Amino acid sequence: MSSLGETPVGDPRERVLLQGLRLIDGTGRDPVSDAALLIEGPVIRWAGPALLLPPGLGPARLLDLGGRTVCPGFIDTHVHFALPGPAGDPLQGLFELPSYRTLKVLERMRVTLENGVTTARDLMGVDAGFRRAVAERKVPGPRLLVSVTMLSQRAGHADFTLAGGIDGLAVAVTFPGSPPSLVGSVDDMRARVRDLVAAGADCVKIATSGGVSSPHDQPEWLGLRPEMIRAAVEEAAAYGGLPVAAHAIGRPGIEAAVRAGVTSIEHGYALDDELRAEMVERGQYLVPTLLETTQDLDPARTSPTAYEKGVRWHRIAQESVARSASAGVRIAMGTDSGLAVGHGSNLRELGLLVDIAGLTPMEAIVAATSEAARLCGVDDITGTLEAGKAADLVVTDADPLTGIAALGDPARILAVVKEGRIAVDRAGVLGEGVLPALCP
Ligand SMILES: [Zn+2]
Repeated sequence: MSSLGETPVGDPRERVLLQGLRLIDGTGRDPVSDAALLIEGPVIRWAGPALLLPPGLGPARLLDLGGRTVCPGFIDTHVHFALPGPAGDPLQGLFELPSYRTLKVLERMRVTLENGVTTARDLMGVDAGFRRAVAERKVPGPRLLVSVTMLSQRAGHADFTLAGGIDGLAVAVTFPGSPPSLVGSVDDMRARVRDLVAAGADCVKIATSGGVSSPHDQPEWLGLRPEMIRAAVEEAAAYGGLPVAAHAIGRPGIEAAVRAGVTSIEHGYALDDELRAEMVERGQYLVPTLLETTQDLDPARTSPTAYEKGVRWHRIAQESVARSASAGVRIAMGTDSGLAVGHGSNLRELGLLVDIAGLTPMEAIVAATSEAARLCGVDDITGTLEAGKAADLVVTDADPLTGIAALGDPARILAVVKEGRIAVDRAGVLGEGVLPALCP
């Protein structure tokens, strides 16, 4: 490996030195108040205190950020771009053409990126084609990781079969060509996971408990037999080492998922001390999706059963999450955006991780950057502002360490850069033409 001093001098037009900034690098280290950050094309070449900037890095264009704070681009490990958020019914896609649904997804991805999320893991809905279009910069959006669909038993959380027999998930949520979501046996599960591998999934989403929004089940119920969960974990490990994300709300579903060795528990509302200790022991993540639990439920727009389920489980969630965090369970930020949470409000979760889960602001930032990247298996690419990582960053005029909730206000996200390209520059802080636009 060549040292920085030996880095060949490249084209200075491709090299931008950001200076006059306060650096929060996502590792959890103390902020650096007079920092510099050298971006070369899509990658960070150097980051640290300006005084330590090594000589011999070659010429670069200069950009002074006037003391503003720079954080890594944030990572939301649990979104649903195919769902409309509070603006609509999750099954409204029953009445829409797939082409129209696709165009709405593009709008949701754009607003999510512009509000500070540079990587998003979609846990049911969009397929690998969306990921490809974003990666090729055909459309603006966060770097995408997709589970494509979600797997459960018949009458489990992935079963949105309507009274008339229509498969609501397949028609209204996933896209044509996506593999089926219902699993009847262990062999079935193995086949479904391989379907997902073939469909280019980055992770496997299973529902090991019932859900709040699903029509046929209760959160207390097991959504998959434990032997099926074990089969999913085994197949995902054998075919590409994919992380397994388990939707798990009630205790039986959490217990079965934890013991089968899933990578993350999504929601995890009914966690108790015994299971928390097992998660710590196994290094499993909790994605608490607190934003979803703080949305006002509208009895006029929800069925009476779903309304009651929502009120009860959201209370349990908020009572349990601080105990999970203080027990040392690893936490990664996820929001369930698309369900009751509106797309683009993702970073409001940071304030809740502090106010409800009891994390420090720095811990909340770590949960939404380096820890989220580790959970998703992309920590070699993103999650911290360090040499060799993608130049994914957020510029804010807020001080996240004294008022982290400000990051949930889009007006305070002055600029977002993804892979060295400007996704948005609300206040003109990135100058004219210094960095290229993400999608020219
Ligand atoms: Zn979800």
